[in-house]
Amino acid sequence: MESHPIHRVAMMFPAPSDDDMASLRESIEQDGVIQPILLWREQIVDGKTRYGIAKELGIDAPFESLPDTLEESQVVQRCAAINLSRRHLTSSQKAAIAVQLGMLDTEIERNATTEPEEGEKPRDAGAAVARQVGTNKGYVWTAKDLRENAPELLPQVASGKMTIPQAKRILNEPDEPASKSRVRGPTVADKNGKPVPPALVGTFVKRESFGSAINLVGQVRKTINRIIEDTDDDLTPFLSVGDIEGCLNDLRRLLKAGMPHAICPRCKASGTRKQHDCEACNGAGWVPKHLWDQIEKEKSS
Ligand SMILES: [Zn+2]
Repeated sequence: MESHPIHRVAMMFPAPSDDDMASLRESIEQDGVIQPILLWREQIVDGKTRYGIAKELGIDAPFESLPDTLEESQVVQRCAAINLSRRHLTSSQKAAIAVQLGMLDTEIERNATTEPEEGEKPRDAGAAVARQVGTNKGYVWTAKDLRENAPELLPQVASGKMTIPQAKRILNEPDEPASKSRVRGPTVADKNGKPVPPALVGTFVKRESFGSAINLVGQVRKTINRIIEDTDDDLTPFLSVGDIEGCLNDLRRLLKAGMPHAICPRCKASGTRKQHDCEACNGAGWVPKHLWDQIEKEKSS
């Protein structure tokens, strides 16, 4: 049989369940591979499981090639439609996978670059994706929210370990103990590698968002620097570069000062998850970096 590398698009879909795998194997042993394995630019974009089984059995399989001229986003859309309709996946899994594949970003971009026809309602990008993969738009938008605010949870949903409503609950109620929501939360560690107690997982997954906000401040600064490259001191006669720099520095400092860094070492030492009279964290259960550094300094002196 022809040999082809597997494209990352094909790797984005979860492996079939053991049951599905067994019945697929049985059917291939009996009738061979019926549905062609899909190639794009000589790489397998759909059918990696069929390809693997055929190779193992030493039998030939039919191939079909998508036009090389397609964009990757178009290939993703095509493969997602095939995969998500064929597999026994839940609505939650479909929404999470579609967002992981960047399908929503493609639709959002399309909306941003095409004017709606006159009298036509603006398209809902989430609804468009939901139609393509067979889920609902609420789940698609929630999956995007997860990707941005709790990126650790999205793969759990994609693999079926957690549903969209369960993940949403964790996202929205950071203080609710995970035991109550009957969800086995992901392992989240603080900056020192210490596992975060369930009640603080929601807080600590937000570290990622703090990180991207801090990066964004850096990007804003770069963009402004590009604008002022050819000017002397001031952006316009009415706006001082120094003021902008000062604001951005303040913003960066504020974000860093408020970002969860570590589980509060004082509460932890006392064995209490949250201790409301804790002087170190004021009952938050965690401390930002400057407080952590301060506590460490006190300990060593
Ligand atoms: Zn404390």
